[in-house]
This record gives sequence, C-alpha cells and structure tokens, in this order.
Amino acid sequence: MKQLADFCQLFALILVIYLFVYFILAGVAYWVFYVLKKETMQARKIQLRVPDKKIIRHEIKWSLITMTMLSFIGAIVISCVLKGYTKMYYSVAAYGWLYFFGSMIFCIFLNDAYFYWVHRFMHLKAVFPKVHRIHHLSHTPTPWSIFSFSGVEAFILYAIFPVFIFFIPLHPVALSVIVLFNMVNNVSGHLGYEIVPGKLHRHWLFKYSNTVTHHEFHHAKVKCNYGLYFNIWDRLMKTNHPDNEKKFMQIQKRILSQKDSAGTAPEHEVARHILMGKPSNLDKGYLNN
Ligand SMILES: [Zn+2]
Ligand SMILES: [Zn+2]
Repeated sequence: MKQLADFCQLFALILVIYLFVYFILAGVAYWVFYVLKKETMQARKIQLRVPDKKIIRHEIKWSLITMTMLSFIGAIVISCVLKGYTKMYYSVAAYGWLYFFGSMIFCIFLNDAYFYWVHRFMHLKAVFPKVHRIHHLSHTPTPWSIFSFSGVEAFILYAIFPVFIFFIPLHPVALSVIVLFNMVNNVSGHLGYEIVPGKLHRHWLFKYSNTVTHHEFHHAKVKCNYGLYFNIWDRLMKTNHPDNEKKFMQIQKRILSQKDSAGTAPEHEVARHILMGKPSNLDKGYLNN
C-alpha cells in the first residue's frame, strides 16, 4: 500500500513539473508572439494564415493527455532509478567533467538520429493515419502543440529517454539538460515565427542546426524536413524541402524591410512591405494553405 502511495505521489509530482514547464514555456512563447508583440513579430511569421482557435484547443488537449502518459512512464522509470536498477550516477567525479558534457552531447545526437528515423517510419502510408495524424492536424503549429501526439506516437518518440537512463551512465543534471533542451527546441520548432538570426544560420557552427522555418515547412508541406535538432539526416537522405533556404531568406528580408519602415509608414504600409509587395509563388502557396 505504501509503495502504491509513493508511486502516486511521484506520478503527481512529475505531472505537476511537466504542466508547470509546459505552461511556462508554451504559454510565455504564445503570449509574447501571438498577443503582446504580435504586430512587431509579424515580419517573422512564417505562414501568413492565423492558427485556428479550434486547433489550439486540440493542441492543448492532446498535450495534456501526452504529459499524463509521460508522467506515468516517468514515475516507473524514476522508481527504477531510486531502486538502483539504472545506470544513473550522482557524483560528477565518478566519470569526470569530460564525460559529463560528452554524455549530454552524445545523447542529443542520438536522439536526433532516432527522431529522424522513427519520424520517417511514422510517415509511412500505413502508419501515418493511426500514429502521426494528430500532430499533423496542426498545419500552422503553435507552441501549444509541443506534446500534441497520439499515445502511440508519444510512446515511440520518448522511448529513447528510458533507454538513455537504463543503458548510458548519466548524471541527473545532464539528463535534465537533455530533457530541457528537447522541450525548448520543441517550443521554438512550433513557434510559427522565425527567430534564428540570419548571421547565426550562416555561422559554421550553427549552419547544420534546423531553423524554425524547417519544422514549420514540415507541418505545411508534410513530406519533407523530418529532422529534429540538426540538418544532418535530412541532408544525407535528401529530404530537405528545396525552398527551405529561400523562405528563410525571404523572412530575413521582411525583418529588414519592417525595421526600415517602422515608425515612418502607416500600419497598412508596413504590412505591404512585410508581404514584399507582390506575393511570391511560395507566399501564394502559403496563403492558399
Ligand atoms: Zn511528421
Ligand atoms: Zn511538429
């Protein structure tokens, strides 16, 4: 009986942490980009259409279901950690700082490869409708969609984390950084606004990282851009959308154009600049989406 009570307490604690982080990360991102700074951020908006309120409710509903399920699995995994059944270690000195940082980087790259291939699998004709469709109902995703998955999809995507815990010696701080990195990346990938600066995107260290446009294109065009953090697997497997860079540069031009017009042109004129006068074929496609 005591064991069950402890398990329920652990489950409730994990769920509260999930809800807190979800509502802080997704809530603040949504409030800033879709409410508070909506006008100023307009040039950064990747798709011109506005996300449907019905879809936002769908995203929150499925995210809540997923977080409940992940908390349950999390409670089982942490119970195993507490009983010493996993490879988790608590003193950095046990493996050293090089290993501490190396293990984090290794898990992030492993997660990136795992995500790419299971994502490709979920796009198979026979699998997609049953497993991945719920996430793709967000054609114009918002930060609320970060956990908007079917139960099966959530299980597949997050199965890699227990594997890390059971098979790779990880410090709790390193694991927390890996999980937080995943959530922050997930929020930015579903932000709907391009926040990656052009200069950073061209930097040798970051040019293999995915932009927000990259995942937004995945939601809009579906059969392309399957990667998570890095643009390595999409390049190797030639699954990048051909217009990724063009769209990214278009947004950079809009941002510059908005900066030039700010404060001088009336609102509708700014909007015209933002849309770069005549919409390109790419924008027309987005307008029609
Ligand atoms: Zn997909
Ligand atoms: Zn997505």
